[in-house]
Amino acid sequence: MSQSNTTIPSGRKDIAWNYATLPDPKNPNNVCCPFCGKVTNGGIYRHKLHLVGGNRNVKECSKVPKHVKEEIKEFIKKKNSLKNQIDDIPHLDDIVDLEEDEDEEDLQTKRKGKRPISGSSGLGPTAQGKKSKQTGPIDLYFAKDVKEIVRQRRGKNKGQYDENKKKLREDAVQKFVTWMYDAGIPFNAVKYDSLQPCIDAIENFGVGMKPPSYHEVRVKYLKSSLTNTNLFLKSHEEDHAKYGCTIMADGWMDKKGRSLINFLVNGPKGTVFVESVDASSYSHTADKMYELLSRFVNRIGEKNVVQVVTDNASCNVKADNFINFKF
Ligand SMILES: [Zn+2]
Repeated sequence: MSQSNTTIPSGRKDIAWNYATLPDPKNPNNVCCPFCGKVTNGGIYRHKLHLVGGNRNVKECSKVPKHVKEEIKEFIKKKNSLKNQIDDIPHLDDIVDLEEDEDEEDLQTKRKGKRPISGSSGLGPTAQGKKSKQTGPIDLYFAKDVKEIVRQRRGKNKGQYDENKKKLREDAVQKFVTWMYDAGIPFNAVKYDSLQPCIDAIENFGVGMKPPSYHEVRVKYLKSSLTNTNLFLKSHEEDHAKYGCTIMADGWMDKKGRSLINFLVNGPKGTVFVESVDASSYSHTADKMYELLSRFVNRIGEKNVVQVVTDNASCNVKADNFINFKF
């Protein structure tokens, strides 16, 4: 935390402490003004406002010497410009303005006491900084981490910062794959586009997110996912009615030797899988194929179907002829 040429106050480095006394050394919130004797109860931050004046919530000191007032004003200005060099993080002063009784040191004590967030939470505070352009109460807890990043971004510790990030990622990935191997999740699961939004959302949550419960996965979110899928399909169906669609049937054998036929519908928005029929119980006859296809055409809506595409199995070709004949 040592700073050479800059003046981010840490500990009791705030120069306003030179012009303050503590009636009770154990309570840094109550600060006594040595000039007029007024006790403010908002720590050094509020005391500074008392000395420099200009804040409607804090009574300005009537007896502070001019040079002291100037010195503290200058100090605050310098501190603010330091923070302004970093454009995408919440300014501590903005945050503090929301709760004027807060003192920077108090914030740190609170943060340490209530939420033991360390810089190595694995959820880079960068993201928190970036995402919280609006400052709310929660940002109080991130303010100090932001300062840490500032320092790291400013150059000499950049390498160290990247190094730390690399290690954090390695650790996270190691734990992720341990879970994958444990649960038997196929390797190609990581190629799904839905993974990154998932990681982003966890990062958004921040520290201490509990994994989804068995019940949530099995009931609550399964239901909501089904609803979403149905809505998605509905939008496709509307397009099929408007622009027409292609029906596709593709037969294949699964590992267990079952003969399956997948029915898909292709429209302007892409292809959707509609159903899969286990056709092992009846042989691939043209009659059966015809029955399945015509049932499917009826399901999608005969007037919406522009064409039917199947693979080249001979029974399909025959069935197609029937279909052409019927519709
Ligand atoms: Zn005073």
